[in-house]
Amino acid sequence: MNPASGPQTVLIEVIDVPSPRIVYLNGAFLPFEEARVPIMDRGFLFADGIYEVSAVLDGKLVDNAAHLARLDRSLAEIGIRNPHTLAEWEKLETELVARNGVSEGLVYMQVTRGVAERDFAFPPADTPPTVMMFTQGKTIVANPLAERGAAIVTVEDIRWKRRDIKSVALLAQVLAKQVAAAAGVAEAWMHEDGLVTEGSSSTAFIVTKERVLVTRPLSTALLPGITRAAVLRLAAEEDLRIEERPFSVAEAKDAAEAFYTSASAFVMPVSTIDGHKVGEGRPGPLTLRLRALYLDIARGG
Ligand code: PMP
Repeated sequence: MNPASGPQTVLIEVIDVPSPRIVYLNGAFLPFEEARVPIMDRGFLFADGIYEVSAVLDGKLVDNAAHLARLDRSLAEIGIRNPHTLAEWEKLETELVARNGVSEGLVYMQVTRGVAERDFAFPPADTPPTVMMFTQGKTIVANPLAERGAAIVTVEDIRWKRRDIKSVALLAQVLAKQVAAAAGVAEAWMHEDGLVTEGSSSTAFIVTKERVLVTRPLSTALLPGITRAAVLRLAAEEDLRIEERPFSVAEAKDAAEAFYTSASAFVMPVSTIDGHKVGEGRPGPLTLRLRALYLDIARGG
């Protein structure tokens, strides 16, 4: 089949893993193969934990203070003590990035409520949390998908009511990604009562035909995206018209432009939604402008 006319096949993201790969677990930097978590870890048994992801660009962490603040807030919301100060986290992340020689990619951090016998008792408050981090080398800037735009599908949002918490309980998002993969596309936008909540791993934006940038306002219905906040700041500096309001799937399909944001995709143009072209079916000018501006600040510009 001619790839230009056929469905967009998901580009398999190449994840660069050094050998040896060094990860962080509970105070130690270890080869990946030696990092072991007991089967009674509450993250494994109950998804009782929080995670965070910061991008790495030119070997430096992007907007990391904001990611660490969200990690701190998520942990507080579920009553897990943050095992590190923000400065300690940053030092650990920086060391892990250096040890793995990551110049572009991401740092993943996870804290679970720790290891406790699986019964119906809540674990004692002094149970040490399990702290884990790894890195992945990945091409973010020169991602070919950003040049042609990502095709996406829409799925019903079947998640719980506290989506503002960055919980490791991601089954609904996994199912959304499964639908996306079956359709041969990179992302799925979730909707509730006909209104888009967010992407399965990203924040959803549209640009209306009147050139208004629209994204859903923050609430417990979605994750407060760190990239979202940065893009909104940039758009305000550019004097763009911004509306933080819910929008429907139908409005998104009829929009002039659409894109999604995340730490690992930055600003990703959307070409089609459920096979329906958005605008011209290729990255729109405003989207590309915001992507370029975001890249600039991510690089420390
Ligand atoms: N929403 C969801 C559900 C996500 O998983 C992510 C990715 N962490 C985002 C939004 C985007 O957030 P951020 O820009 O902080 O990566």
